[in-house]
Amino acid sequence: MLPSSTAHCRLAPPFPSRLLPSASEPLRRRPLILLRRSSSYPDRRRLLVRAIDAAQPYDLEASLALRHLRSNSLKIAVIGFGNFAQFLAKTFVAHGHDVLAHSMQSDRSSAAAYLGVQYFPDPNDLFEQHPDVVLLSTSILSTPQVLSVLPLHRLRRSTLFVDVLSVKEFPKHLMLKYLPREFDILCTHPMFGPESGKDSWVGLNFMYDKVRLWEEDERIERCEKFLNIFSAEGCRMVEMSCADHDKYAAGSQFITHTVGRVLEKFGLEESPIGTKGYEKLIDLVENTKGDSFELYYGLFLYNKNAMEQLERLDLAFESVKKALFGRLHEIYREQLLEDAGDGIRRTMHRAEQNRRREVAQKLLHNGGQTPPNQSSETKAW
Ligand code: NAP
Repeated sequence: MLPSSTAHCRLAPPFPSRLLPSASEPLRRRPLILLRRSSSYPDRRRLLVRAIDAAQPYDLEASLALRHLRSNSLKIAVIGFGNFAQFLAKTFVAHGHDVLAHSMQSDRSSAAAYLGVQYFPDPNDLFEQHPDVVLLSTSILSTPQVLSVLPLHRLRRSTLFVDVLSVKEFPKHLMLKYLPREFDILCTHPMFGPESGKDSWVGLNFMYDKVRLWEEDERIERCEKFLNIFSAEGCRMVEMSCADHDKYAAGSQFITHTVGRVLEKFGLEESPIGTKGYEKLIDLVENTKGDSFELYYGLFLYNKNAMEQLERLDLAFESVKKALFGRLHEIYREQLLEDAGDGIRRTMHRAEQNRRREVAQKLLHNGGQTPPNQSSETKAW
């Protein structure tokens, strides 16, 4: 009787995850082939074949594939298994990596089981698994507290720490402060989320900064393997310093979130004659309202460039309003003059002409005095 095999073979990158079986897809049972006792061979025992095409230990092709898969897979421990971490984990699992997770406040075990992720309520147990990579996906505000209580002593000295926080200088300094100097540090920011990246990651920006990477082949390769998850999915890989990231992100991402939140408060409604531009505004609100206020507040509080951008936005809004109201004021003034009597109009007209003459004189003489023998009429006009 052939042994049955339930080994679930996952394909290794560079296949995009949508081509791979979904993590939540139940393992398919192999067909049972039952050979009935034939009347012509009454003495034979019933033969039951439980599996066909099962990988055999002596099957070279299968063992090579398995070795290749193992050599490429990373053990990734995720800290903070919230919305965004679950979204990322789906793709990590699809790429054949072993994903483990822990959350400090909530029990995320059922979400983990659904995604094919091993869940550890206790971070000690998680770190005893000696992951290759520890991925921080905690809220920006909670990260200092989380980092300060993690049982780092249980990890291997060569562990790679990665963060995906939406600000970069802040976690970089925190990791440099809390992590032993033997650890590698990779700061990243996938510039997309569960909403904008739900169909595909193709063409979406992925920022990263190799903050500390020890010059060892294995460590360099491990870091590349991690980055390869995103490049294989079609992300546009952007290597950039954390400081530059924060400068650009304050002017783009923070402003996008701010305008999205302002428009949400404003209350955009579907319009029967909506333009393409209007639809984009509605999309913007949809995109930003899914993110927690805590995340948005983190973008503001922990990016030193955010305040300046908020003030610039305020000034820009004021100047647009001024341009509109200024034009309105001129029209209103002219109308007032027309409505007023002829006498008042003539007096005001003369006063206006005199004022213009004075300005013209100053301009003609570079702000100096006009020569005494010239009348103001001939000088100015
Ligand atoms: P989030 O609200 O920013 O973070 C949620 C996670 O933080 C949860 O796992 C939660 O733990 C943990 N957390 C919150 N307060 C905590 C505390 N006091 N102590 C311990 N853990 C705490 O939402 P998110 O969207 O999942 O984002 C996670 C990270 O990814 C953030 O740093 C964010 O900036 C970044 N990011 C998000 C997106 C996006 O589109 N959402 C895109 C790029 C980067 P529990 O699981 O225990 O509740």
